[in-house]
Amino acid sequence: MYNVMSPKAEEFISHEEIEETLKYAYENRKNAELIDKILKKASLKKGLSHREAMVLLDCELEDRNELIFQLAKEIKQEFYGNRIVMFAPLYLSNYCVNGCTYCPYHYKNKHIPRRKLTQEEIKAEVIALQDMGHKRLAIESGEDPVNNPIEYILDSIKTIYSIKHKNGAIRRVNVNIAATTVENYKKLKDAGIGTYILFQETYHKGNYEMLHPTGPKHNYAYHTEAMDRAMDGGIDDVGIGVLFGLNLYRYDFTGLLMHAEHLEAYKGVGPHTISVPRLRRADDIDPDAFDNGIDDDTFAKIVACIRIAVPYTGMIISTRESQKCRERVLELGVSQISGGSKTSVGGYAKDSVENELCDSSEQFEVSDTRTLDEVVNWLMKKGHIPSFCTACYREGRTGDRFMTLLKNGQIANCCQPNALMTLKEYLEDYAAKDTKQTGEALILKEIENIPSEKVKAIVVERLEKIAAGQRDFRF
Ligand code: SF4
Ligand code: SF4
Repeated sequence: MYNVMSPKAEEFISHEEIEETLKYAYENRKNAELIDKILKKASLKKGLSHREAMVLLDCELEDRNELIFQLAKEIKQEFYGNRIVMFAPLYLSNYCVNGCTYCPYHYKNKHIPRRKLTQEEIKAEVIALQDMGHKRLAIESGEDPVNNPIEYILDSIKTIYSIKHKNGAIRRVNVNIAATTVENYKKLKDAGIGTYILFQETYHKGNYEMLHPTGPKHNYAYHTEAMDRAMDGGIDDVGIGVLFGLNLYRYDFTGLLMHAEHLEAYKGVGPHTISVPRLRRADDIDPDAFDNGIDDDTFAKIVACIRIAVPYTGMIISTRESQKCRERVLELGVSQISGGSKTSVGGYAKDSVENELCDSSEQFEVSDTRTLDEVVNWLMKKGHIPSFCTACYREGRTGDRFMTLLKNGQIANCCQPNALMTLKEYLEDYAAKDTKQTGEALILKEIENIPSEKVKAIVVERLEKIAAGQRDFRF
């Protein structure tokens, strides 16, 4: 029944194939010979199959586990360097007709105030985000055809791109909304979105249906096949993910990689990003109902094995995770993080008279509550380069074009200079004194890591122009 090229969810995410994979991995969890063979293949840095990756995830040999973590770090360094791309979520509306049992926005929850931002309120949120220094947003909205129709989402995207406050600009809007039709995906594409993000939550059909007892999201096949429709609608970059803690993590890890394999085989381009959220406490959610949460060590191993299995796919972690946890997984493969996030509708606009209302409408508890400047400062002191780059999408480097550049290593020639130039913009416009000093020193050091002398000279010149007030240079 398993068929990576099938358009049907139940065939490209075959339950039997997952069960067999889990059995195979468990039986081989101490098979040194097989694990070494897989590690040898993984060291070519061209990825692994879901079955091979699952064997590494289950591996119980301590010395081999060390090698797995080591290899994940090497791949991270080789493909992404020490750059970390920054973004923020923007919650537009918490009206939702679905009954997801793990999310406080489920329609039966009467404890939280429902709110949908007007275009004026979106403007205020965007100005607040620009004043923090953000250039890349992920918009989030519940599913509600009456309150949040596609026209509302499209208007909101237009509003976001139109706001230029002081030196600020949102240059890339990623969109995380419910599964929809090819026609609507076309509209999103035409509105100039970056990545379309949709989490599967869990790939286990039975559990999926139990966790989504009512509403359109109940339809497993429609949800699981959404990325195929998004690509049919012309969206090149899609972001997948599961909510770890909803199901047994081994099942979802395998399903996630099978989904990536399907997109690559069937649509010619694998996912642009993979997100690894873990379930968090939230209003009206019974914490005891979800007893298959995962500990930090397992979580780190999942990140490492994803990094090895799909070296070309960016990995995202949100403020759901603590500073400590984020620090660990940044080394192992995460390439994008949020900072200074608010997970409530209207949470950024400081002067909002309804701020109390906002705080009580959080989708989940934020663990890392630091400001964006604190996160930027911390990243730099840990040896990372915070990057506000959005260049690829704006230069048309999306989908297979992006993947080709990534696979032949050429993208690194864009990422490093763009990271330094966008960091410089941040330092000039938004950074606190200590952050600015740390950042200027970092930029001087990191310029030396630009391989091409020609590009280096252009970057030096552009950095001077940024200091003099010009903005938005990119490679
Ligand atoms: Fe609605 Fe999404 Fe929450 Fe489900 S997870 S209740 S679809 S906002
Ligand atoms: Fe991302 Fe492209 Fe910028 Fe590199 S150059 S950080 S891949 S947007």
